[in-house]
Amino acid sequence: MSINRILRLGIGAIAVTLVATACGGGGDTATANDHARAGKLTIGIKFDQPGLGFREKDGSFHGYDVEIAKYVAGKLGVQPGDITFKETPSAQRESMIMNGDVDFIVATYSITDTRKEKVDFAGPYFVAGQGLLVKKENTDITRVESLTGNKKLCSVKGSTPAQNVKENYAKDVQMVELDTYSQCIESLRSGSVDAVTTDDIILAGFAGQAPGELKLIGSTFTTEKYGIGLKKGDEKTRAKINDAIEDMFADGSWQKAFEDTIGPLRDTTLTPPTVDRY
Ligand code: GLU
Repeated sequence: MSINRILRLGIGAIAVTLVATACGGGGDTATANDHARAGKLTIGIKFDQPGLGFREKDGSFHGYDVEIAKYVAGKLGVQPGDITFKETPSAQRESMIMNGDVDFIVATYSITDTRKEKVDFAGPYFVAGQGLLVKKENTDITRVESLTGNKKLCSVKGSTPAQNVKENYAKDVQMVELDTYSQCIESLRSGSVDAVTTDDIILAGFAGQAPGELKLIGSTFTTEKYGIGLKKGDEKTRAKINDAIEDMFADGSWQKAFEDTIGPLRDTTLTPPTVDRY
């Protein structure tokens, strides 16, 4: 074999190794935007939140967050069929972004300073607020202040509502923390907890699935700005996602996505939030 050919083979092998490193886990240096340019994205969503991020029995995905994800992916040049949706439970979101398990997350994900120490956020694309869900026949819980007498309140590990209850209402309630909101809803329906707390829009989605059985009560008591979580320091992808969100507000797709999914379950007038280009 000629020296030239040996050299070419050698360089080829190095190139293959580099591509493998760029696409695999571990030493992945490719950004979400690089993955999009290569035609594929892995996006984190919830799988169990009706109207927001939901995996149907046939394996298809529906909901407001799914629509936001598809629109943003489209603006980054990725077709819906080239998106892999991965389940990102509340408590695992930061680590899944940091590990490169997902390119970005659209999963009722509140922008907070604590989370910003580990990940960055594009958006916000929606503003929700913490609320309470109880059984229709319940009359003794009417607002957050009625959470007294050691009542059992369910929320999800690693979520802002669970944190808020632990910090501000913990002495009067018994907090039950599970992995997902659908588990909390099961506990509420079976009577093992008295109420479920998280964002109003999430609760509305579950209430809509069990009409006449569950009710949202009181007014919201926090502000939850939903952002699209991505790798910390990836300014380029963040700017592109922010552009996409603004396009979605401007061309009517944002309103339509809401009306087609969770909108009918929640009576609000919609005003797009201002994207925070921090
Ligand atoms: N928006 C809140 C959060 O990001 C609650 C919803 C959720 O857990 O996904 O923690």
